[in-house]
Amino acid sequence: MTDRDRTGAAGDDAAGDRAAAERRAEIAEGLAAVRARIAAACAAAGRTEDEITLIAVTKTFPASDVRLLAGLGVTEVGENRDQEARPKAADCADLPLTWHFVGRLQTNKARAVAGYADVVHSVDRPRLVTALAEGAARAGRTLRCLVQVSLDEAGKAGEVGERGGAVPGDVPGLADEIAAAPGLEFGGVMAVAPLGADPLPAFARLAETAAQTRRNHPEARIVSAGMSGDLEQAIACGATHLRIGTALLGGRRAIVR
Ligand SMILES: *Cc1c(COP(=O)(O)O)cnc(C)c1O
Repeated sequence: MTDRDRTGAAGDDAAGDRAAAERRAEIAEGLAAVRARIAAACAAAGRTEDEITLIAVTKTFPASDVRLLAGLGVTEVGENRDQEARPKAADCADLPLTWHFVGRLQTNKARAVAGYADVVHSVDRPRLVTALAEGAARAGRTLRCLVQVSLDEAGKAGEVGERGGAVPGDVPGLADEIAAAPGLEFGGVMAVAPLGADPLPAFARLAETAAQTRRNHPEARIVSAGMSGDLEQAIACGATHLRIGTALLGGRRAIVR
């Protein structure tokens, strides 16, 4: 190696270190801001912060960001597409992380997801229960599953049906199926606030559904609700798990599928 090569490589390393330090500071700032919002929302709702689990939704961001989050004390990460999540989880296998699958799940991806996810938030049909149970058995793992509840008002489902979710009336049945499936554990409910509507009444409906499912499954206490734009309303309505992307990591570029 010539001196010039050596200097060049060292220069690249230094630039890389600087970029990583800057990114770390950016994420630390986002994390502090989110934690402050959680603290304020808990105070306003008469709740304590230890009731809240923060899931960092890292979709579209690289494994290096997951590593920085882990270094900052984040232990829960969320992803929404198998193609992206699988290699990222493998890349970060040395980190003490719990992986949450929060996106719409195709049945043919369920087996793969069961290989690395610890919690699947988006179970909304019986076929998915069967496929996840098969995947969990094959991988020799136990998967915690949440039933995704559609919070669209009756009759409006067609407009925002993209978001998925079971209608509230189907939730108890799905919960029973999950609880009865080998390799699966029923953990509670999840929802995404309807587009363009006040999230507060929607999350209040979710709280009712959650209370209903707890009658048969008292240990299934997870209520996964609240994203960057509506975490305060979710905390006010009893959310236990927040799924936060943008407020932690910044804006995502549009994904071309
Ligand atoms: C992307 C995503 C989030 C995070 O959304 P932000 O608004 O970026 O915080 C939460 N939940 C689901 C299901 C998502 O797909």
